[in-house]
Amino acid sequence: MLAEFGANAASRRCLVVESCGTHRHYFHQILDDFPIDIHEVTNAQQAVEEMPLEKLFAIFIDVEMLNMDGFERAKNIRNNTSFQHIPIFFITPSNFSRSSVNKHYELGRIDFITKPIDAPTLKNKIEILLGMTLSTAIDYKMLADLRKKERSQELMLNYIADGVIGFDLNSKVTYANTAACTLLTISKENILGIDIKDIINPTVSDEVWQNSDFVQTFKEGQCNHCDDTYFWRQKSYRFPVEFTQSSVYSDDEVVGGMLVFQDITERKEMAKELLKIAKYDQLTGLANRTLYWEFLEKAIEVAKRKQENIYVLFIDLDRFKDINDSMGHDAGDILLVQASERLKGVLRSADLVSRVGGDEFAVILHHVESDHFVARVCEKILSEFEHSFKVFNNNTYIGCSIGVSRFPTDGENAGLLTKAADTAMYSAKAAGRNNYKFFQNKMHEHVTRQLLIANELRAALYHHRIIPYFQLKVDINTGFYVGAEALARWVKPDNDLVSPGVFIPVAEETGLINSIGKEILMQVGKIAESSFLAAKNSDFRIAVNISAKQLVEANFSYNILSMFDHNNIDPKHIEFELTETSLMQNSRQVSQELYCLRKAGIHISIDDFGTGYSSLSYIKNLPLDTLKIDQSFVRDIGHDANDEKIVKAIIQLAHSLDLNVIAEGVESKLQLEFLKGLGCDQAQGFLFSKPVPSAQFLSQLQHKDVG
Ligand code: C2E
Ligand code: CA
Ligand code: CA
Repeated sequence: MLAEFGANAASRRCLVVESCGTHRHYFHQILDDFPIDIHEVTNAQQAVEEMPLEKLFAIFIDVEMLNMDGFERAKNIRNNTSFQHIPIFFITPSNFSRSSVNKHYELGRIDFITKPIDAPTLKNKIEILLGMTLSTAIDYKMLADLRKKERSQELMLNYIADGVIGFDLNSKVTYANTAACTLLTISKENILGIDIKDIINPTVSDEVWQNSDFVQTFKEGQCNHCDDTYFWRQKSYRFPVEFTQSSVYSDDEVVGGMLVFQDITERKEMAKELLKIAKYDQLTGLANRTLYWEFLEKAIEVAKRKQENIYVLFIDLDRFKDINDSMGHDAGDILLVQASERLKGVLRSADLVSRVGGDEFAVILHHVESDHFVARVCEKILSEFEHSFKVFNNNTYIGCSIGVSRFPTDGENAGLLTKAADTAMYSAKAAGRNNYKFFQNKMHEHVTRQLLIANELRAALYHHRIIPYFQLKVDINTGFYVGAEALARWVKPDNDLVSPGVFIPVAEETGLINSIGKEILMQVGKIAESSFLAAKNSDFRIAVNISAKQLVEANFSYNILSMFDHNNIDPKHIEFELTETSLMQNSRQVSQELYCLRKAGIHISIDDFGTGYSSLSYIKNLPLDTLKIDQSFVRDIGHDANDEKIVKAIIQLAHSLDLNVIAEGVESKLQLEFLKGLGCDQAQGFLFSKPVPSAQFLSQLQHKDVG
């Protein structure tokens, strides 16, 4: 038997199809004592080309081969009659599933060997395959010694780009290939004999070193792979490596160890760059949407296990678009950077702050006990935004709206939790901005409806289906037409009219009000001249309602006046109606805007007067022309003595301040007579006319027979 083996020894070949150099190296090392020629290829394609090897004895295939699955390869081999009986060993990862193993057995003459390859197991399998006992194996060790060891090892090791270092039981380097010396910047002579610790970590104490994973693995005779650590050059500076450590055996005894390593500096740099691009916002340096999702999903997993809360804050800057549009994108960018700095300043380093959209930020708070704590965080954020932002030497104010959702109550996964925070944020905006709201279930319904309207409204604006209707204003004493109020209408495709009570609030919430305001103003401007001509009254004015949100738009007066200028609209035929509440906000900025507008000739009146703050001080300090008595007081003239008193007081107040006074919602002669008796200057209401389309309005002015 021995003789037979000896005669055939040199001609036995086995094919190793394996991409990993380290594993290929193992085969050489482990099977060194066997009379086998190891023929190795690095990919399945090469295996196909090299298959017709004569006297093939066994094939080892890594099942994880990239370009051609190992199983497919095995099937091809089996189909080829010349190779039908050759045993195939699949090299599999240790977690290889049972079902896929069974699939392989169907091919016949199949066996498995798991990674990391265990030397005794592999040897044993080969021995059985050779049909020999252990004792004969020892005998052919002698024969195998005849082979030229250097040829296989030395040449191969010096050729590969990986660093390979061998060391003895005292951790002293006994071998290093060329690549290892180059990577460690040390000569072949000098590296021999140095302690392996000087390469792996010279900074730690001997005690720490003895307990390190490296030494433990070595002591236990195991293998270890580490894909991200550092080695040291000359004990003075480190560089990133990936390495595999394995123990070297002789007769089942560990006689030393081996390290195979690669310099991964470039790979790491690239990965870092990619990570930056892929997961961080380039402008603010905050996490981006991708990282936000990843972080949230992980945080949820942990919170589930530990039964903890997570809070998601959605933060949207109020009026950011105005600043971006009026001051330019650079200004917008500067503001975003400052806003993100302020957010980071308020939050703990463990909280994730991310920029998830243009002016939208999301914060993930974990390890948080209570709503109370989160409410305080929100308040802190809001107060941070009370200070002005410095943009190109201008002090700009910008607020934010915050929506909060809680895990697990408001959503059990990242998607639901995010949606809930977003919904709560919209709700905070709707509630007047610059505040925060915790999510509540009923918010969803409201937001869905508002979004639907907003989308339709956008389309309507685009198709010029938002138009003004006009309602006359009459001088109570003379009966002359002194002006009109433009009231927005949304004309649906079927010509149904939607009243402003439905769409103006949505427009205000979504910022569409600015575009609607401009559209109405343009159309009013077009008709202003013909209307004062038709009314034969050069003081005839058309009033336009201006929302609070428009008034605080950056450069509001400037934009309006340039628009008038471009379109030859004379400001002296225009009046703005503003509510008390809108005048109260940010009063310094607002009064400056009003001064500019009034200086240009636009009249200013306070709408719905009596329903808001009615603070005398602000009325005195603002450049006003008219007070408009709210229709709720006019309605009850003749029924409610209190309301009558209020109407009387408003008229007196207006006159004492030299302001004009107009009553709206006048529906009856009785109301008109009452107002006339108190000296009210003008009236507007169904008694004279309902709001009508422009053509009808112009014809009303020409034929003064209404009323
Ligand atoms: P408002 O400024 O107080 O407008 C007066 C509202 O009273 C109008 O309702 C008008 O049609 C109605 N009205 C006029 N006379 C009478 C009357 O004798 N009796 C009764 N019961 N009602 C009368 P409308 O047109 O539905 O407008 C509602 C609100 O929508 C307006 O209240 C205004 O705040 C807002 N709005 C309308 N157009 C615009 C606009 O272009 N921009 C802005 N920002 N808001 C607008
Ligand atoms: Ca009005
Ligand atoms: Ca009103």
